[in-house]
Amino acid sequence: MTRTVYVNGDYLPEDQAKISIFDRGFLMADGVYEVTGVLDGKLIDFDGHRTRLERSLTELGIEKPAAFDNLLDIHRELIRRNDMTEGTIYLQVTRGSAGDRDFAFPNPAQVKPTLVLFSQSRPGLADNPVAKTGIRVISIDDIRWGRRDIKTVQLLYPSMGKMMAMQAGADDAWMVEDGFVTEGTSNNAYIVKDGKIITRQLSTDILHGITRAAVLRFAFEARLEVEERSFTIGEAQQADEAFITSAAQFVMPVVEIDGVKLGDGTPGRVAPRLREIYLEESLRAVMPPCRTLCGQPY
Ligand code: PMP
Repeated sequence: MTRTVYVNGDYLPEDQAKISIFDRGFLMADGVYEVTGVLDGKLIDFDGHRTRLERSLTELGIEKPAAFDNLLDIHRELIRRNDMTEGTIYLQVTRGSAGDRDFAFPNPAQVKPTLVLFSQSRPGLADNPVAKTGIRVISIDDIRWGRRDIKTVQLLYPSMGKMMAMQAGADDAWMVEDGFVTEGTSNNAYIVKDGKIITRQLSTDILHGITRAAVLRFAFEARLEVEERSFTIGEAQQADEAFITSAAQFVMPVVEIDGVKLGDGTPGRVAPRLREIYLEESLRAVMPPCRTLCGQPY
């Protein structure tokens, strides 16, 4: 099936969607993005993703696209047109195209941001069998820029990290800076010791995961102890459990770090429980007031 995608106000078949070769997203990685999970045809934590998008745009001085206030409707329309039940909606905003290449930002009065959205249908995401066995991670140096709290499209190093992991026979990489784990290539990182969940504190060093915020809230409600602080790979290897969170993977257990198995090498109890709660609560989420597409699932 040809996907219907969204580009600057138009819904188009994916093979007819075009942006300029001068777009600053393409030339300079001058853009930001969001990935919102979809379960049972419903968007998960849409408001959190929209709020983070707004913050990323503000931090980089990129204007909000004209359709910013209609983003919920656009997301829903893509779900509907692509007959999607599980997967993700990808959104990208770039500073646009000034019709040439120049390091200086174009005048926002003249050059409007580019807005692109597309759906990624992934049936079976919630029942992903990998969640039963867990993933293996390796550690790599974190050599990314210093504003990882901004969700920019500069994803070359995280992609390289993922490739390094695959070449090492693992699934993903945790990045390490000054001896401490920052985060995974595309997820936040956690360990569990004596029932306590430990994850790095928020700062400009990591992305403020929307799934992280939800999972920590659910953990609090389930009376699980949470400590927000940095941890090393050595401490993680001694932990009882570990896991990652992201909008595309929800909560995913980690069973091996740099070749060292955690506990008995199986997912443990806390991560699978948090995954279960996260999926249940996301499916139960209350619909916000609906605008143009009343009747569509949120
Ligand atoms: N950290 C990084 C570096 C990421 O790329 C992502 C996912 N885009 C996350 C954390 C998780 O964020 P979220 O839960 O909002 O998907």
